[in-house]
Amino acid sequence: MTGPIHDLDGLLAAFGVTSIQDLAWAIDEAADIDDGRSVTIDDRGPDETFLVVDTVGIAITFPTDVTTVLRLAAEAEKELRQQHVSVYPGHEWSGVIIHVPHASRLIPAEVRDQILLNDAALERELDAMTDAFTDFIAQRIADTTLHRPWIVVNELSRLVIDPERSPDAREEMNAVGMGAVYTRTSDGSPLRDDDELEADELIRTYFDPYATALTDLVDERLAKVGSALIIDLHSYPLVANPYELHTDGPRPEICIGTDPFHTPESLVEIVREGLGGFDVGLDSPFAGCYVPLKHYGASHGVRAFMVELRRDLYVDDSGALVEAAVTPIAEALAQLISMLDLEPLTTCRGMGNFMGDAHFDEPAP
Ligand SMILES: [Zn+2]
Repeated sequence: MTGPIHDLDGLLAAFGVTSIQDLAWAIDEAADIDDGRSVTIDDRGPDETFLVVDTVGIAITFPTDVTTVLRLAAEAEKELRQQHVSVYPGHEWSGVIIHVPHASRLIPAEVRDQILLNDAALERELDAMTDAFTDFIAQRIADTTLHRPWIVVNELSRLVIDPERSPDAREEMNAVGMGAVYTRTSDGSPLRDDDELEADELIRTYFDPYATALTDLVDERLAKVGSALIIDLHSYPLVANPYELHTDGPRPEICIGTDPFHTPESLVEIVREGLGGFDVGLDSPFAGCYVPLKHYGASHGVRAFMVELRRDLYVDDSGALVEAAVTPIAEALAQLISMLDLEPLTTCRGMGNFMGDAHFDEPAP
């Protein structure tokens, strides 16, 4: 399999196959493309051969070699992922990831077609369900943090898939038609048909790649910094939506969601203190926080908490952003993150797995 490959026949020979279909399968296997994605070879003539992963195609330029072709496949898969999820790089030594899953109102045309609402009803549903401006707030927080945190933004509406709900049967929100693929609206009306094949397709196309992108980033931060802190950023309305399961508890200005494994008591205390200028409550009306499945309940190096901002804190009655109101929220969270990002240092040094020294020459704020 060495030496330059000059045409498609040479590529077939290099992979030890005889058909283009088999070549695509061989590349799929060797490049370790996610299950459910399909690699195809689009042969349009001597100088126009494309390697396609689902919908993203990259031209194969001859002469080439096996390594290059496998790299192209990995690149196409990565590009596909990035169409739906944005990763904004932070400071190389920051272990903090702000996760923004519900800020977008964007629904791809083929998914819009599955939704049973007319345009006006869909707009109202998006108003109710979108965590308006949380992407903007995340950037404002990052702008004022000592070590810029990493930011992951879902670029599609949660009505496409909800990356924070589990696609399996244990998800409690399944009971109200709001698991990973919603079948009901926030007031319980039909949103899309309960079609298992359609749901599987949405999971494969949107949910799985999203989960992989976020998991990859957590893995990368763990490898680089030795720990990761996921801050899940949401917003919620002053008055409960009909779909909410736990409506009798308090609705504070900022609700902090915690997890028994990933949010140690010491972390809760620091967060409460850091946000002391606000009316802060724990796990009401929304509880828990997001951690990728791979690390959930397993990786002590992955800490997490959720921040649910009550929308009337920074949005006026017409739904418009009150920018001046964002400043104190962003500043408080930025200060908190600056403090927390320096904290793992001591722990990790103690465990002997701190992997760099870039922190040491920078004073604490
Ligand atoms: Zn949310």
